Amino acid sequence: MREVLILSGKGGTGKTSVTAAFAHLSCDAVLCDLDVDAPDLHLILRPEISERNTFSSGGEAVIREQRCTNCGTCGDLCRFGAVLTGDSHPRVDPIRCEGCKVCVHFCPEDAIDFVPRDCGEWSIGRTRFGPMVHAQLFPGEENSGKLVALLRQEAKQLAKSKEMSLILSDGPPGIGCPVISSVSGQDTAVLVTEPTPSGLHDLERVAQLCRHFRLPAAVLINKYDLNERGTQRIRGYCKENDIPVVGELPYDPSFVDAMVAGQALTEYADGETAGRLRDTWRRIQQLASLRAAA
Ligand code: SF4
Ligand code: SF4
Repeated sequence: MREVLILSGKGGTGKTSVTAAFAHLSCDAVLCDLDVDAPDLHLILRPEISERNTFSSGGEAVIREQRCTNCGTCGDLCRFGAVLTGDSHPRVDPIRCEGCKVCVHFCPEDAIDFVPRDCGEWSIGRTRFGPMVHAQLFPGEENSGKLVALLRQEAKQLAKSKEMSLILSDGPPGIGCPVISSVSGQDTAVLVTEPTPSGLHDLERVAQLCRHFRLPAAVLINKYDLNERGTQRIRGYCKENDIPVVGELPYDPSFVDAMVAGQALTEYADGETAGRLRDTWRRIQQLASLRAAA
């Protein structure tokens, strides 16, 4: 089984549009949206959901009033100001509670329960290009790395049960915990960038992260024609660091039109950009196969 991950050092480089096009071109992959904080691949792929699950992680303190003697210990010990005291019994503010369990441990009456916390939802569905796994963390919730790991595990099981040989994942932006959780065990990361100073800076950061985790990377330059000097710099950086440039896409308003139509660009239009995406996908598959075989 091969795993290809599409990454970018930041949002807004066209990563999801590119992933949707590759999903269309592969037509035999389990599709996975690992951007659990702000998923949007489903807006293009429009999966029919067959299974919806709650994601619970960590926990939060809940005071049982019947046992509480209002001694005030929990309020004194909570460093996060999560125990709200008043005239009656104290209660825990679930938004402030960090789940450290100190109050649970020190309550003299054993009056505080620690209950699992629902942090988000994850789903399995069917798209016109193949099965899809995606998720959404609830606003303000953490543990995105754990949810990413869970999605990847589900995607692998799905690929196994359906005898599919490729998992194609739209990765989270940035270089934080969810990205780190995304990279282990992948065969290839495709780094989508654009020719701006911040584009190069973010590319350097995510390329470093891939190197650190020994994940072979390849670069796709989006909107290469908007800034020739910026594109030259990216090519130079890739050459110096031995990272293959697998494709260059021109600025193309069809990306937005396709997204508005709920389609991948390669479905929506058959122009120059679609042709370049096809060539790029061919190169990525070759790289992923070579690396999976190595
Ligand atoms: S420490 Fe326990 S008994 Fe004391 S106020 Fe808190 S919940 Fe009530
Ligand atoms: S679990 Fe920790 S953060 Fe939550 S109320 Fe208890 S002491 Fe405060």
